[in-house]
Amino acid sequence: MENPQIKPSTIPLPDAFPWGVAVLAAEDGTVLQANAHLQQNYLESQSENLPLEEQFAFAEKSPLRGVLQQVRSGKGWSGRVTPLKNRHGISSIEVMIHQSQTDPDQLWLYTLEHPSVNGAVRVSSRSELKLLQILLDNTLEHVFFRDGSGRFILTNSSFDRDVGAVDGSPIGQRIGRFISDESAEWVAGIDERVLSSGQPSVNNVAEFTFKNGTKHWLQMSTVPVRNNSGVMVGTLCVARDISDLKRTESELRNAIADAKAASRAKGEFLAAMSHEIRTPINGVIGASELCQETELDDEQRGYIDTVIQCGNTLLTLVNDVLDFSKIEAGQLNLEQLNFDPETLLEEIVEEFAQMVRKKGIELILSCDENMPRHLMGDPTRLKQIFYNLVGNAVKFTEEGEIILKAELVERSKSLATIRFSVVDTGVGIAEFRRDAIFNSFTQEDMSTTRKYGGTGLGLAICKELTELMAGTLDVESEVGKGSTFTLEVPFELSANPGIEAIPFSAELIDLKVLVVDDSKTNRDIYTRMCEGWGYRCEAASHAGEGLRLLEEAFSADDAFQLVILDQQMAGVNGLDLASLIRSRPDLKQLKLLLLSSSLNRSESERAETLGIARALSKPVKRAILLEVILETFGVGALEAVTEPEPKQPSPPKADTLKLRVLVAEDNAVNQNIAKRRLKKLGHDVVVVVNGHDAIEQVTQREFDCILMDIQMPGLDGYEATREIRRIESKDGLKRNFIVAMTAHAMQGDAEKCLANDMDDYVSKPFRAEQLKEALDKAVERKVTHAHLEQHGAFMPSKTLHEYYQSLEEADREDLIAAAQVMRRSVPQNIVKLEYAIREKDIELIKFMAHTLKGVAGIFSDRNAFRLGGEIEIACSEGALGKAEPICREFIRDLDQMIEDVEILLKSTGESEED
Ligand code: ADP
Repeated sequence: MENPQIKPSTIPLPDAFPWGVAVLAAEDGTVLQANAHLQQNYLESQSENLPLEEQFAFAEKSPLRGVLQQVRSGKGWSGRVTPLKNRHGISSIEVMIHQSQTDPDQLWLYTLEHPSVNGAVRVSSRSELKLLQILLDNTLEHVFFRDGSGRFILTNSSFDRDVGAVDGSPIGQRIGRFISDESAEWVAGIDERVLSSGQPSVNNVAEFTFKNGTKHWLQMSTVPVRNNSGVMVGTLCVARDISDLKRTESELRNAIADAKAASRAKGEFLAAMSHEIRTPINGVIGASELCQETELDDEQRGYIDTVIQCGNTLLTLVNDVLDFSKIEAGQLNLEQLNFDPETLLEEIVEEFAQMVRKKGIELILSCDENMPRHLMGDPTRLKQIFYNLVGNAVKFTEEGEIILKAELVERSKSLATIRFSVVDTGVGIAEFRRDAIFNSFTQEDMSTTRKYGGTGLGLAICKELTELMAGTLDVESEVGKGSTFTLEVPFELSANPGIEAIPFSAELIDLKVLVVDDSKTNRDIYTRMCEGWGYRCEAASHAGEGLRLLEEAFSADDAFQLVILDQQMAGVNGLDLASLIRSRPDLKQLKLLLLSSSLNRSESERAETLGIARALSKPVKRAILLEVILETFGVGALEAVTEPEPKQPSPPKADTLKLRVLVAEDNAVNQNIAKRRLKKLGHDVVVVVNGHDAIEQVTQREFDCILMDIQMPGLDGYEATREIRRIESKDGLKRNFIVAMTAHAMQGDAEKCLANDMDDYVSKPFRAEQLKEALDKAVERKVTHAHLEQHGAFMPSKTLHEYYQSLEEADREDLIAAAQVMRRSVPQNIVKLEYAIREKDIELIKFMAHTLKGVAGIFSDRNAFRLGGEIEIACSEGALGKAEPICREFIRDLDQMIEDVEILLKSTGESEED
């Protein structure tokens, strides 16, 4: 569109711009260059270097000469002129003339008018233009309008002031004149985007360096400007100075980083402190317990009881704080262990059985039939969560029932998502408090502390632990009706499910069972259990219905064979129904099982008279109910059905090493299970029912392993162990291998058992796998002793194979037997040692080093034996720093030893295990 008559200039003028723009010679006002708008509407376009006065008539009071003079002096001029050659019949237009910033010989002329509408140029009024400039100048943001080539056409005073262009207008300049190259490049990038896309680019933020040396954070929006025909004529920018905001933001960011660092330091400090505090508290409790055994009058006994009670509360609190701070400091690592979710829940239920019995409420376990039995996760931490949720449910429920539920939400090849819920019929939680209870040190209100106790840390820890497990923990509740806490966690499925079995008996398939219970939840659960074992099961909600079903079945020649009765039923209770059954000759042969929260002496006697096969305490575990049913029908041997594919476990060879095991346990069912399992493994078993008898047995004969229940009437497990240890050292007896059986299986239990001088612990009711692990250790122990007695502590340093060759036949068999055990136990024990090192648990390091050292001794690994000894010494001195590097060397050596053992087993053809 450029007019060829007009001298070409190096300055590209905005041709698409709807106002006129021209470059004039400063000296006489000759039009050197004009944009298309000016040419088409106001100029004599055919001529070159047009004299300005021939194009426009200036008013008399401001002749061209005077105007040029004023502009050259740097002031600029604006006023009305009459276009002489215009084609629109416009009498006058507003014109503005400025001196060029870059070339004093050139002036810039702008015509100020409304854009043309439908081809007609409309003249603007002077006041309108003034108003526009006033508005812009009073805007705090920088506003500037540039043509398509990036030259300023309009700027406001805020921009002029900040870029330092007060003395001369930036009009006609490019932005690069006022800001650093880097900033200009950034702006150019945005301009290009806007001009090429025709779309606005908003809220871009960058730090600008102005040429006057100042720095500013600007948030800039750039929009394309189009003329009436839709042609893009330039860009309008609005930039806000957000330097203050940025400063505040950076201060805030620093403050947050400081706060986080401080919080981490605080967490670490708390973790360290809690650890330190635990030791003296244990001392206080231990000493007070010893004091309890001395002669005290009633007043003194009262004081000591209070000390112990407070000590235990303090210990719980410290443990909570320790956990919480560990989580906060990011120091809590979860274990990945194989566990059976149902057994875990059963243990929780057993733990609370007595407490709920006392409160007169029911605690019911409901576990999906298709629940996987081998999950990978951290059972201890999971248990901790349930312990808390069920503990709260019991605490806040005065009547009704608590259901602990586990459902399989989804299962893939390698993952299973389980939804656990704890449903109570307690006081409930007000809606506005529901989120807050998951915060630390929050209870529903302060009266809660007075009435129910607690620290308000429990749920916060549960929530954190759940999140560490990548799960969710939520609550639903209605005040006065109860609460439901739901925990949903994804678990990996164990790749190697081991030999944990679903108890099952083919012989009783189709057994016909009737469940009579007034609780629907219980009816459903027991029915599902029975059906799971292949029985035919029906249920009745009261005695009358039960009797009717029994009679109908008898008449139909398909009589029931077993009735499971609930004792606590409204109206006719379980024992009454049993006597009604016994009074009918046709039902006399029926086997009866009674489930009850508790039976008093006369009820027990009555049960016996009525020929009730067994009375079981509620809640009854699946495995125990099955064992009792099998026992009732005289079906002994259990088949193990493993998951996912049925597989018959073949006992490893080491199990043929017969152990003499002493079981000290007061509960008949547990005695029975222990005895049966141990016999099945081929061991000799002696059972005693209390601590005194256990001690007596130990003084009379040698045992390879003592399974010691912790809670026994009279002398408990800890006390009995203490006494046995005293006797051992007094009489110079061999140290017995004592395994604690604990119903708690809570955090800290292992430490407690070890602190009480026991060698290992299993949680009740013991899973076959766990019991076997403990027995394996006893086997190792037995073999170590035998070898050490024969060969002394230090065997000649030989390769394992040479050593094997050098042995007698019987010793070789023992060594192979031990090798079968060690290939499973040593890797596990190394993991435990690594865990102990990570946790800086010096007692556990010492214990694991001792155990592994013994194994190294058996396999003639002199170096590992020596290292194990050094670790023990370092631990006794409390020198953790010294022990750690030795542990690493020790573990390397043990890894090598495992390899050697595998090679030995292969070479002797004994490696096919399981
Ligand atoms: P606390 O040690 O006080 O029990 P928690 O963090 O476990 O601390 O629980 C926080 C609060 O949440 C409790 O004090 C109680 O007010 C409320 N709460 C938790 N569980 C229940 C429940 N099952 N029923 C009613 N209120 C509950």
